[in-house]
Amino acid sequence: MIVRARTVVTMDGPPIENGAVAVSGNRIVDVGRFDDIKTRNAGKAIDLGEQVLLPGLINAHCHLDYTWLRGKIPPQKSFTEWIRAINAEKATLAPKDYIASINEGFAEAKRFGTTTIANLTAFPELIPQIQPPVRTCWFAELIDIRAPERANELVDSAIESLARARPPDAQWGLAPHALFTASKDLFRRCEEIAQREHILLTTHLAESREEMEMFRVASGPLYEFINSIGRPMDDCGSKTPLELFLDLIGSGGSPNRPRAIEVNRPYPSWIVAHLNELTESDFELLERSNSKFHVVHCPRSHNYFGHGPFAFDRLRSFGFNICLGTDSLASNESLSLFAEMRAFQKEFPNVSADEIFQMVTVNPARALRYENALGQIRPGFGADLIAVPCSTSTDIFEQILDFDVPVSWSMGNGNVIASAPGSAGC
Ligand SMILES: [Zn+2]
Repeated sequence: MIVRARTVVTMDGPPIENGAVAVSGNRIVDVGRFDDIKTRNAGKAIDLGEQVLLPGLINAHCHLDYTWLRGKIPPQKSFTEWIRAINAEKATLAPKDYIASINEGFAEAKRFGTTTIANLTAFPELIPQIQPPVRTCWFAELIDIRAPERANELVDSAIESLARARPPDAQWGLAPHALFTASKDLFRRCEEIAQREHILLTTHLAESREEMEMFRVASGPLYEFINSIGRPMDDCGSKTPLELFLDLIGSGGSPNRPRAIEVNRPYPSWIVAHLNELTESDFELLERSNSKFHVVHCPRSHNYFGHGPFAFDRLRSFGFNICLGTDSLASNESLSLFAEMRAFQKEFPNVSADEIFQMVTVNPARALRYENALGQIRPGFGADLIAVPCSTSTDIFEQILDFDVPVSWSMGNGNVIASAPGSAGC
């Protein structure tokens, strides 16, 4: 099949005017100017007309479990109050509700041009009952605050559910929820398994001022709340969340510190969500760190909580790979990555639209270990493509960011999943 569009944005070189992509099975086999593509490739051609053809978008962090919680929790006085509120809402949902909520989330993400999702679920046992309509990297979200002695058991049973349910070629992983809800043993077990199975790891880190207050000075609302649940609080009172995390993953600041992981084994690369609260000494650690993990910023969830400014420029200058995510609808209003890009642009007007678009294509592909398969339109890459209307009037990437309705045409893994009324054979 040949797909022709006014412009093809490959993310692998300059946009191609009057471009086309040849697809065979679930792979892209050729990309270039339409005249050349049709000479070099046989097959049916469809013309998407005045549209720009793009790589499908990749959401690097979300929780479809909570799609049903859209609009249920107004912004709270504090992060801790929000945790209490979401816990109360979660208590009203049964497994069948979560399945419906996850399915609705997938459908919405797909409508807005997302073709790959890194989805954290607190219910890995439900995965076999769900058929995702888009490529999904499932992460089992793990919390052992109420039973830390069962950390290994929790990880092992999550691995069993995930291994049974995931498609054979998909990336997947483990998500110890956060330093304040997952024990050190849980983090260590996750790392051990990630080494063994070569799977992905993600966590929430340094998200709120209250998390910083809890760990650094052993006080504040989150400290009080977590303490009341019975978590041992002996790691509170000196270090920042980032320091504790780097200690745990074996790459702390001191050069003399023994690494927790053998150096000759591949190091698990973490995908760290948020990283909002950092001290000057944290920045020094990050600059020196040889473990440049991936970072996910969720602009609209960030605004909902009123977190301090995200240190995009510094993190980028230190070499961190920065991606965008929607987080869940318990702190966001939609699963559109276009809206997420616009929120980011509002926050960082000096960052080019082209670079922002990389944060939902090339960068998350790298974080999810799909750098040779997704996020760009290149021969050999997966046929995940979307189209949005364009004209010649303004910068093509600005037009992409302005797009705010469901996409009219998309292709996932070589299958057309939405059709534009105007597209015609050519
Ligand atoms: Zn999250």
